[in-house]
Amino acid sequence: MNPAPQTVDAAAQVPAKVNLLGLSRQQMEDFFLQQGEKKFRAQQVMKWIHHTGTTDFAAMTNIGKALREKLQSIAEVRPPEIVRQQDSSDGTRKWAIKVTGGGLVEAVLIPVGDRATLCVSSQVGCSLDCSFCSTGKQGFQRDLTAAEIIGQVWLAIKSYDAFKSDNTRVVTNVVMMGMGEPLLNFDNVVTAMDLMMDDLAYGISKRRVTLSTSGVVPALDKLAKVSEVSLAVSLHAPNDELRNELVPINRKYPIAVLLESCRRYMAAQTDRSRVVTIEYTLIAGVNDHPDQARELALLLRDVPCKINLIPFNPFDQSGYHRPSGNAVSRFWQVLVDAGYIVTVRTTRGDDIDAACGQLVGQVVDRTRRSERHKAASNSQIISVG
Ligand code: SF4
Repeated sequence: MNPAPQTVDAAAQVPAKVNLLGLSRQQMEDFFLQQGEKKFRAQQVMKWIHHTGTTDFAAMTNIGKALREKLQSIAEVRPPEIVRQQDSSDGTRKWAIKVTGGGLVEAVLIPVGDRATLCVSSQVGCSLDCSFCSTGKQGFQRDLTAAEIIGQVWLAIKSYDAFKSDNTRVVTNVVMMGMGEPLLNFDNVVTAMDLMMDDLAYGISKRRVTLSTSGVVPALDKLAKVSEVSLAVSLHAPNDELRNELVPINRKYPIAVLLESCRRYMAAQTDRSRVVTIEYTLIAGVNDHPDQARELALLLRDVPCKINLIPFNPFDQSGYHRPSGNAVSRFWQVLVDAGYIVTVRTTRGDDIDAACGQLVGQVVDRTRRSERHKAASNSQIISVG
């Protein structure tokens, strides 16, 4: 892919600076070649940005002064901005992140044993409107740029002040499972995932970078040709009738079409032992009956997969409820008896706004409340005057 074309700041009529944070290795090399510089400058600058967390070209001391000054005038390293951070007593850390134009997204770091999984957003809001999803209720605003996606990894490491430490890996795994449907922002997501796996950036293995999709089949087929990241699919229902209700994109790409695409994705991998993770959010009285577990077991019999059960995390006005522990166990047992590897996602960050989209919802509500408050006090002033 070529570097993002230079845009023009309409107000000032000056070319906008290129944000080097979001350029893949190839794009960075192209950028320096276009400037009449040597390719190896790309490696130097990538290490400064992603290994040491440096955003100031003046501090990149192995680059000559003239080039540093030139970079300052045409480029920048601009991560998005943390507007709120929440720490759970179980070690989960969640951020509300402001992106250009004022939109908000979330990232969450979940440490478990020697792993720390960062859940990353790909869009501001989401257009797919899954019925159980807090993000879906906020509507779609825009795609994140590659810099805003990889910027979430950068910010997570920065927030632990861990760029300085060579041995501490703050982020060992990444899941593209935050706000948005990653396959609807294909190029930027692929570029950001390339950076996650690149040794000049974060060097995370392809097994530890997971893209989770609700089932955009043509884009999934396209992904199989350009990437080898792990795949997770948000299924949530054992039949089309129920999935049409929970995950509306199913009306366009029904379950059989989606599972066929999953099989093609797994068949395209160089390592044939890999499997797709089937995500299944258990909602009380909706999709958690043992008969539905049996139907699911039958449905997945030809798919190389493991199953991750996620007890629903209720949020205001969701209209759904979390299943009982017994219901989760019964569902799990049916699948295990059918021979599947099944995990149950334990609830993390219970004391913070754990469900995807909740923290942003809360920050937005708070902003609206303070705007209403401001409007109310203004009207008081006006009426007093
Ligand atoms: S579950 Fe994912 S795809 Fe569905 S509305 Fe929420 S963010 Fe979008």
